[in-house]
Amino acid sequence: MQPMGNENAGPTKFPGRPVSPFVAAPQTTMPFFSSGHVVEKTGPPNFPGRPASPFLSAPQNAMPLLSSVPVGPSIPSSQPSPDVGNYQRFPTPVYPSNVQSITPAHGPPYAGQAVLPPPGLPSPGQQPLPPPFNFRPQPPQPQIPLVSMGPPPQSFNSMPRGSMPTFPLESSNLHPSMLGYPNSQASPVTHVPPGQASPFLSHQGGFVQPPIRAPLGLNSREQLTLTSMGPPISVQNLVEEFSSLSVGSVPGSIDPGIDSKALPRPLDGDVESKSSTVMYPLNCHPKFLSLTSHAIPNSQSLLSRWHLPLGAVVHPLAEASDEEEVPIVNFGPTGIIRCRRCQTYVNPYVTFTDGGRKWRCNLCALLNDVPSDYFSLLDASGRRCDADQRPELMKGSVEFVASTENMVRPPMPPLYFFLIDVSLSAVRSGMLEIVAKTIKSCLDELLGFPRTQIGFLTFDSTLHFYNMKSSFTQPQMMVVADLDDIFIPLPDDLLVNLSESRTVVDAFLDSLPSMFVDNVNIESAFGPALKAAFMVMSKLGGKLLIFQSTLPSLGIGRLKLRGDDLRIYGTDKEHALRIAEDPFYKQMAADLTQYQIGVNLYAFSDRYSDIASLGTLAKYTGGQVYYFPSFLGGIHKEKLSYELARDLTRETAWEAVMRVRCGKGVRFTTYHGHLMLRSTDLLALPAVDCDKAFAMQLSLEETLLTTQTVYFQVALLYTSSSGERRIRVHTAAAPVVADLGEMYRQANTGALVCLLSRLAIEKTLSHKLEDARHAIQLRIVKGLREYRNLYAVQHRLGGRMIFPESLKFLPLYGLSLLKSIPLRGGYADAQLDERCAAGFNVMILPIKRLLKLIYPTLIRIDEYLVMAPTVADDFGNFSKRLPLSSESLNSRGLYMYDDGYRFIIWFGGMLSSDITTSLLGVDLSAIPDLSKVSLCERDNHISRKLFGILKRFRESDPSCYQMCHLVRQGEQPREGLLLLSNLIEDQIGGTVGYVDWIQQIHRQVQQSA
Ligand SMILES: [Zn+2]
Repeated sequence: MQPMGNENAGPTKFPGRPVSPFVAAPQTTMPFFSSGHVVEKTGPPNFPGRPASPFLSAPQNAMPLLSSVPVGPSIPSSQPSPDVGNYQRFPTPVYPSNVQSITPAHGPPYAGQAVLPPPGLPSPGQQPLPPPFNFRPQPPQPQIPLVSMGPPPQSFNSMPRGSMPTFPLESSNLHPSMLGYPNSQASPVTHVPPGQASPFLSHQGGFVQPPIRAPLGLNSREQLTLTSMGPPISVQNLVEEFSSLSVGSVPGSIDPGIDSKALPRPLDGDVESKSSTVMYPLNCHPKFLSLTSHAIPNSQSLLSRWHLPLGAVVHPLAEASDEEEVPIVNFGPTGIIRCRRCQTYVNPYVTFTDGGRKWRCNLCALLNDVPSDYFSLLDASGRRCDADQRPELMKGSVEFVASTENMVRPPMPPLYFFLIDVSLSAVRSGMLEIVAKTIKSCLDELLGFPRTQIGFLTFDSTLHFYNMKSSFTQPQMMVVADLDDIFIPLPDDLLVNLSESRTVVDAFLDSLPSMFVDNVNIESAFGPALKAAFMVMSKLGGKLLIFQSTLPSLGIGRLKLRGDDLRIYGTDKEHALRIAEDPFYKQMAADLTQYQIGVNLYAFSDRYSDIASLGTLAKYTGGQVYYFPSFLGGIHKEKLSYELARDLTRETAWEAVMRVRCGKGVRFTTYHGHLMLRSTDLLALPAVDCDKAFAMQLSLEETLLTTQTVYFQVALLYTSSSGERRIRVHTAAAPVVADLGEMYRQANTGALVCLLSRLAIEKTLSHKLEDARHAIQLRIVKGLREYRNLYAVQHRLGGRMIFPESLKFLPLYGLSLLKSIPLRGGYADAQLDERCAAGFNVMILPIKRLLKLIYPTLIRIDEYLVMAPTVADDFGNFSKRLPLSSESLNSRGLYMYDDGYRFIIWFGGMLSSDITTSLLGVDLSAIPDLSKVSLCERDNHISRKLFGILKRFRESDPSCYQMCHLVRQGEQPREGLLLLSNLIEDQIGGTVGYVDWIQQIHRQVQQSA
C-alpha cells in the first residue's frame, strides 16, 4: 500500500502495482496507494506564485470529507489550480454517486454528496402524497426504513419537504454519524462573514447588467387556455404569468374534462431555452452549459421553495456548427490570463480598470494585474480597445493552448488498446470478424497520427498477447494460461506505434478472425485479461475498448448468473441487481481512471452478461456502454461497424480533468454522469469525447446572496489528439433573483429532465424502481404545487391546472421518464441487462438526445413517398411530428418512429400495396415474418425517397447508427414490443396514459394546495 510514485522508477514489477507513469514528477507522492488521510504534495506549480484555489482549500469543504473518505483535499496553500498540469496527483478516487463503497470500512465515499433523511418518510406535519401510479398492481410496500448503515441514500430527494437545496453547504458533507439528522435544521447558520461587503458589486466595466425580467415569450395566448371560462380577473397579467389547463370533469358529464389534443407536446421541436443567451449574449451556447433555471435564487428560503433540482447540464465537447466553432487562443509566453485567487480564466465578463493595467475577476472580484504583454488601452466606456480582436473577451467559449513547460510528463499520444473476447460465441455471432474489419478500416483515421499507439489482447480461457514489433512481418502470439498470477510476457512491443508497426497490425487484423474460427472454448477469463490490459496500458493511459461476448467465468472478476428474479422486485434487495456484485469492477475502474484509461464496453451476449457489473468499468472512467443483445453479424453488422468507427475516430480529449467554478455563494455539490471525482469538485475524465454530457446539482453556500449575477465557468483541461495541452473554457452568467415566479419562468425543461433522469437512475441503484419513479412524480407535483400557490388563490383559478410556460412539457417528459427502459415497470417490463445498459446510456446523454429518446419522433411518411418525384422535395411539410399515441396511427398509413437509436417503420394493415411492393419487392401479404426482412434500396422513387428520409434522419444524429426495424399492424408480439409499448401517451399494460397522468398530477397538486 505504500509505494511512492517517484520511488518506483525501476522496471515494471508486475504483478505488483504498476509503475506510475508519472514517475518523472519531482516531489511527487502517490497518495493513491496510501490509506488514511493524505495531504497531497504537488509537483512544480504551473503558475508559480499563484495561491491556492479557494475551491479546494475551503475548510468546510475539506474537513467533513476527510472524516469519511481517504482522499486528500487539504491542499497546502501553494497548491496550483489542479486543473492544469497536475498529472502527478492521484488521490484516492471519490465515487460520484450512490454506489456501494468498495471498502465499506472507509465509510461512504461521497464527495459533496448531500446526506438526506431517507426518502419516503414525511416530515412532521406534512401530508405524504398518494403513491404514484404503479405499472402493475402490487401489494402495498412498506416504506423504506431508515438507512442505518452503508452509504447514505442518494440525494434525489423524495422527502415531501426540504428538498435538497435547502441544505446549506456544510450539511452536504455531513459526517456519517449525522445521518438521519432531521432536516428541520434548515440551518440558521450563515456563512457571510460579518461586515463583509459584497465583493461583487463591481460592474464598472463595459458590461451592462441586462434586465433580469426581460419579456420572455410567456405570452400564452397562443397555447393552452383551454376552457371557455377564462381567467376571471387580471387577464392580461395572467396571460403573462402562466399557462393553464382545464382539468376535472364537468359536473353531470362523463367527459374526463381534458381535451387530449390540446395537451402540451413538444411536436414542434425540442425545448431549447434561449433566454440565457438573449439576456446574456456573451454567454457560451446553452448546448455547452444549461442551468435548470436560468435564475439563481438569492436565498436559502427561496431555494427551498423551488422543488425541482437546481443544477446544470454540461456538455463540454458538444459538436459545434461552423458559426459556433470554439476559437483557439494561444497566449504564448504571456501565459494564460487567470485570476490569481480563484484561477478563473479570463472571459468576456471580466472588467478592466486603472487605464487597462488591472482586471477584475467576475467570479471572486479580485483585482488582478494585467501582464504587460497583454496590456491594452481602454476606450471611453472602459472597454479594451482590442476587445474585438480577442475571442476570449468576446466569446463565451474558447479553447486556450496551455504552456507545456511545467508539465510533469509530455502530452500522451492517443492510444487504443483492444481487449477482445474470442470465445465460441464471439466467433459464431460474427462479432470478432466485424470488429477486426472495422478496426482495420479505421486505422488511417485513428486520432493522433503519427504518434498513435495501438495494442491488442484476446482471451477465452487463456490470455493471448501479441508482439507487434515493427521489424516483424507477422505478429507473434504468446499465450498465458496462468490466471492467478497475471503477468505480461513481454515488457515492450505489446503496445506499438501504429505508423511504425502498421504492416504487423494489418497482418494481425487480417488474420484475427481466422485464427479463432474453430475455437470451441466457451470460457471467459475476462477479469485476468482486464488486469493484463491495465498493466500494458498503465504507462501511457488511453482508450480501452472491450468486446465482451461471454459472462466472465474464470479467474478474478468472474461473475455469477445472478438471474433476474421476479421475487426480488419490490423488496429491499431489488436494487442490488443493478449494481456491481464483485468489488473487483469498481476497484479496476478506480485504477484505470488513475492511470488515465477510459473504458468503452461493447457487450454482445445473447444471455445474461451482468451489464451492471461490467458497465461499472465505463461508469467511473468517463466511458460508454454499447449494448448489442443477441448480436448477429448478419443483422447488426452496420450498426456495430458504424458505432465502433465513430468511437475510434470522434475527437477525444485525452487525460482530461474538468472543473466547474462558480461565483461566490453558490457551489456545485453533486455530479452525475460517467466520471470519477478526484477531489470534491474535480472530475477525472480519462478519455472524454463529444458524446458525453455531465449533470450537477447546485447549492447555495450562503443564506443570502448579495450579488446580482452569478457566473459559471467550465474548464476542461485535456491533451488533444495532436498532442497539445488545451483548456476548453465555457463561461456563463445568470441573474440572481428574489422572486420564485422568476425562477419558474426561467426554468429549462430540457436541463431539468436531464438532471432528474440521472438522479432517478442513481436512485434505482439503492432503491426500488418504484421509489425512483415516485421521486420524479413527487418533484413534479411539488414544483407545480408551489407554482400554483403563487397564483391560484389570488386569481381564483379553482379547478384549473396552471404551470409556467417554461415547464409546460415537464409533466409529459416526466411520464416519459417513468416509462423509459431504466425506470419502467418491474421484472417483466425490461430485461435486467437491457435495463442496466439503458441506465448507463441515459447517464451520459446530452439534453437533446435524451429528450428524443424519451419522447421520440413519430411521423407519417406514406403521403410524402407517393408524391410524384417531379414535385419539389419538401419533406419539411410532411415531417410533422405526431403525438405518441396509437390514435396517431392510421391503418392506411406508413409511419416512422425514431428515438435516436433505431427507426421503426410501421406498416398500416390497409397500406396501399403499391407502397409495400415498391419498398419490399413483394406485397406485404407475401411476407410471413417481417422481422427477417431488411430494407434495401430499390430502383423506384418510393424506395429512394424512403432511403432519403432515413439518411436525413441519420445525419441529424451522427452519434449512433439507427437500425431500421419493420413491423406491420397487428403483428404481435413484435408490434407491441417495438412500437406500441413506446407510445407513451397510451394506457398500456397497467400504465397510465397522458390524460390520466395529467389528472393524477393535478389532483396531487391540489391536495394541500
Ligand atoms: Zn477570481
